[in-house]
Amino acid sequence: MAEVLLKNVVKKYGKVEAVKSLNLRCKDKEFLVLLGPSGCGKSSTLRMIAGLESISSGDITIAGAKVNQTHPSKRDIAMVFETYALYPHKTVFDNMAYPLRIRKMPKSEIKTRVERAAEILEIVPMLERYPRQLSGGQKQRVAIGRAIVRDPKVFLMDEPISHLDAKLRGHMRGELKHLHEELNQTFIYVSHDQTEAMSMADRIAVMNLGELQQFDTPEKIFNEPVNEFVAGFVGDPPMNFLPCTLVTGEKQWSVEFKQFIIEVPDRVKNLTQKAGAQLSGRHGVTLGIRPDNVLLKHERTKPGDLAGEIYITEPLGSYMIVDVEIGGERIKVRADISFPGRSKDPIFLELDGDHMHLFDAGTSRSLIHQSNGKG
Ligand code: ADP
Ligand code: MG
Repeated sequence: MAEVLLKNVVKKYGKVEAVKSLNLRCKDKEFLVLLGPSGCGKSSTLRMIAGLESISSGDITIAGAKVNQTHPSKRDIAMVFETYALYPHKTVFDNMAYPLRIRKMPKSEIKTRVERAAEILEIVPMLERYPRQLSGGQKQRVAIGRAIVRDPKVFLMDEPISHLDAKLRGHMRGELKHLHEELNQTFIYVSHDQTEAMSMADRIAVMNLGELQQFDTPEKIFNEPVNEFVAGFVGDPPMNFLPCTLVTGEKQWSVEFKQFIIEVPDRVKNLTQKAGAQLSGRHGVTLGIRPDNVLLKHERTKPGDLAGEIYITEPLGSYMIVDVEIGGERIKVRADISFPGRSKDPIFLELDGDHMHLFDAGTSRSLIHQSNGKG
């Protein structure tokens, strides 16, 4: 059982608090992604788990044993970095064999392990080559192979594919997910790329400014973001945000945006009340709506439709992104590729109310979805 547990973990560099009291439980054999923008403390977190960085306070437990003071080599983990750190004068075989040789493993066992790892990674024909004879993607496979041969319980990966070109990155996403299934071990993977996190993770820990924002399945992170940061970080194009006023009436609630009035469906109203939001009268909110949850129309068919103007259209092969200006704001809508429309055309928008998000204008916290899966 290789569960990784972080309890009130803090990392300070002098006065900079890079990681603020982090609580996380990565389950045995789970694929966990630490996701967040540059500088949010992802690498610091991973390096503390690896033992490459000291912990300022708190506890880290791997497979039931507290490892705060344990040397990296004794933690039963392997780490893969963005830079491959391969030895240029050693062959692929020797690069992969190196961590086993320094452990004085018998030659025959080394050969078996390297060959098995090479098979899993499909680099058998490259074993006698030198790193300079490999592509970027192949080099990264060798670096991963060097981690696999040690047969660790936990794999730690810090943006291992973020420097590869888009096409190869897409390919490697699938490969790494497959590798996780094949090895059936715990993976903790750092990324700033929401697509990577959404497509690979069992659960995502979203971080910002050293703080855990939400820890949940990709589906929940996408559909039930607990604050504006999480809502805006996942999804492509990102969620649209409009500054609004929530008006809570006896029976009906509505959201006012400029001269427009958008009805709040009962479902959303009930969720808000269930989430315990104390609201009365008028309340400053940010309305969030994803590009997929807006319908574009050439004529107004419902009283709540917003009137705007097309700013620009972006055809993307199988669908189109339409940028619309409404009430001095700009929002993106995903439309059919055959959608007829040009810049400056008047347009009407119907928001799918059941998919609206409401965030407190002051705290940015969701009024609908509570933080349930933290830590
Ligand atoms: P991420 O991996 O999410 O980009 P890091 O963990 O590398 O974030 O960094 C988090 C914060 O800690 C940043 O503000 C960074 O500048 C700071 N930091 C990271 N490493 C050091 C270090 N060795 N010394 C001082 N500050 C550091
Ligand atoms: Mg980093």
